[in-house]
Amino acid sequence: MKIKGFSSLKHIILPIISLLLISCNGYEFGPNAFHKLPKETATDKNYKYSGRIIIIGAGASGLASAKILEENNIDYQILEATDRFGGRLKKIEGFADFPMDIGAEWIHNKPEILNKLKGVKGKEIKEELISYRLESSSLWDGENLKKVSKKKLDQYFEGFTEYKFKNSTWYDFVAENFAKKVEHKIKYNSPVIAIDYSKEQIEVTTKNGEKIIGDKVLVTVPVGVLKSKMIEFTPKLDSKKLKAIESIKYLTGFKLALKFSDKFYPNVISCKTKEGDKEFYDYSFKKDSKYNILGLLSTGSSAEDYYKLGSKEAIVKNVINELDKMFNGSASKYYTGDFVYQDWGNHQYTKGTWSTSFFDKSSIIELNRPIDKKVYFAGGANDLYNQGGVPGAIMSGYYTIDRLLSESK
Ligand SMILES: Cc1cc2nc3c(=O)[nH]c(=O)nc-3n(C[C@H](O)[C@H](O)[C@H](O)COP(=O)(O)OP(=O)(O)OC[C@H]3O[C@@H](n4cnc5c(N)ncnc54)[C@H](O)[C@@H]3O)c2cc1C
Repeated sequence: MKIKGFSSLKHIILPIISLLLISCNGYEFGPNAFHKLPKETATDKNYKYSGRIIIIGAGASGLASAKILEENNIDYQILEATDRFGGRLKKIEGFADFPMDIGAEWIHNKPEILNKLKGVKGKEIKEELISYRLESSSLWDGENLKKVSKKKLDQYFEGFTEYKFKNSTWYDFVAENFAKKVEHKIKYNSPVIAIDYSKEQIEVTTKNGEKIIGDKVLVTVPVGVLKSKMIEFTPKLDSKKLKAIESIKYLTGFKLALKFSDKFYPNVISCKTKEGDKEFYDYSFKKDSKYNILGLLSTGSSAEDYYKLGSKEAIVKNVINELDKMFNGSASKYYTGDFVYQDWGNHQYTKGTWSTSFFDKSSIIELNRPIDKKVYFAGGANDLYNQGGVPGAIMSGYYTIDRLLSESK
């Protein structure tokens, strides 16, 4: 069975699968896997540890783990390859009259997941959300545009609830609740190239030649970075670990936002693809915006086809042509010439979008397995609770830091 990723394409492609998600234990995911979350997380516990922990990566997972260390007065340092925190979370301001997430954008979950992530009790959330119950949607098979009935869209939402932040972003959520508390411990522009755990203390080397010593290391880089073998481990990772890293699917992809002077498109247009997602969506949906911004989320085979065009400008031109074909020339008529393009697949420290191996439990467990109680792994692909995306990454951070600290008593 093909399980699509995080785009709202699921609205269209998965009405049947969504029913399976609800009824079949093996396929519970996101809002339908809420009951799988542990009652207690690391946010509910107190820890004591006198060693030093090095966290690699300042994405949602690394920042959430760091928050636990900060709150428990444990010594730590975060090494981040780029000059910013957030990883696959990124906010664009000024392109529209609302902040736009150009990385993770949807909350594929119940609203109260936000409290769970923050470590706050109860269902009442403080954030203002948009319910992602679509009003209009179409399917594009390359030749014909077919409307999806409102009844089907409603059925989908009832089976798989999704939300977005109203006047905020996933990036803001993580900045406010995690990064703000730990930013002073982030060392930016410090790509890790080697982890030597052969001696009692661990030596981490950055591309700049700096050597940082710690007692434990928590690796939160994307699984695409692990696949690329950018980080050399000494001793080498064993074959089981390497096999798990290889098995976890992690698709390439990008996001594109185009500005139009008129709105000629429905809330979502889902396009037929071989592997991954290709979905146009109204960025401004329920945002009280005066701007018409159409997003494109392309992962897997469709992204690979677009990349062959050679440049972002060529991709935009091709996309406008495709939209013209769907809407009888309206795209080129109303296109203002403004776009934002974010390529996650070719980003050196991301190398893709998200893991689609949510249900490959044995690989996830193996990926999580610490080495010698010294090197630990967390991140979006390590999600043991079927939450997916940002919630999965944060919960994995909590799970792993709890494991690390509990094993270190
Ligand atoms: C286009 C796109 C759309 C998405 N949509 C959604 C969505 O709608 N909803 C949702 O919930 N999720 C979505 N996701 C998935 C979500 O963004 C990720 O699952 C989550 O952000 C992963 O967090 P993380 O901390 O595990 O990894 P990351 O955010 O990737 O953080 C890892 C960090 O490690 C750093 N790093 C990498 N290599 C090194 C190195 N060698 N040394 C030091 N640092 C290094 C990186 O720079 C990065 O900051 C989307 C992702 C993408 C790309």
